[in-house]
Amino acid sequence: MKVTFLGTGAAIPTVHRGSAAIAVRRKNELILFDCGEATQRQMVEAGVGFHRKTKIFVTHMHGDHVLGLPGLLQTMSLLARKNELQIYGPKGIKDFVEAINQTVPYTLTFPLEIFEVQAGLVCNEKEYQVTAVDSGHMKPSLCYALTEKPRPGRFNTKKAKQLGVPKGPLWSELQSGKPVTLPSGVVVEPESVVGTSRPGRKIVYTGDAGPSEGLVKLAMNADLLIHESTFEDALQERALKDKHSTPTMAAQTAKNAQVKQLVLTHISARYKDANQLLEQAKKTFPDTILAHDFLQLELPMKD
Ligand SMILES: [Zn+2]
Ligand SMILES: [Zn+2]
Repeated sequence: MKVTFLGTGAAIPTVHRGSAAIAVRRKNELILFDCGEATQRQMVEAGVGFHRKTKIFVTHMHGDHVLGLPGLLQTMSLLARKNELQIYGPKGIKDFVEAINQTVPYTLTFPLEIFEVQAGLVCNEKEYQVTAVDSGHMKPSLCYALTEKPRPGRFNTKKAKQLGVPKGPLWSELQSGKPVTLPSGVVVEPESVVGTSRPGRKIVYTGDAGPSEGLVKLAMNADLLIHESTFEDALQERALKDKHSTPTMAAQTAKNAQVKQLVLTHISARYKDANQLLEQAKKTFPDTILAHDFLQLELPMKD
């Protein structure tokens, strides 16, 4: 799984930071979180591509998180995209996307589905699911968790041969957790040839959010917590008023949720050099990095 930060700024795009958008490439699918202005231009620069099967999860209906959709949908159509695209977001996302199509006419070249979603299970795929909690930033606004389902354990081919299970369909049966009966009448249980199941990976993205118990729960044991950090610690009051976070708030959530790594994003345009934000977070949670546009992180499969 590869995570590419397409836009890491807050509110206003700057020379160095685009508006909120994060691309997760998982197998042959592209999963986007938020779609701020000019996301499609950032995708070109990052070499993300426009044709893959894609899902977009929008956290809330503030411009810096959704205004990239008109351009992205039209670029995809101009490139004659064929694969389906699904957009998930809070109430309002449907009206917005439909208004684009009605007022700036273009011909959509691919199947588009839009889902207005709430906290809870947002989408359930064969190999992963996406869940959400209310972020408290505005009504409605969501934080998302992408959680892979556990993979079956390793298949011990040597043991299978020793037990007299012939290579072929019986191996697949065992791998999928079913007992098999050999021609001799002996029953082989999957546990005797398949190891314990292997955990999936988990990425949590806050969108705009202040601290909350719900977010800590959502982020519990995540491999990667991508957390907004709009203001420095000294502006804590402003952060609380606008329902945003400071580095220390983000780091405290990371610590409470026992995540592996914290990434700070959604950095206010006032910070030319945001290293002070990174230093503030590291005091509470040392495994923190500061996102910049086009930062890429690789999350290897777990054994
Ligand atoms: Zn924002
Ligand atoms: Zn916002």
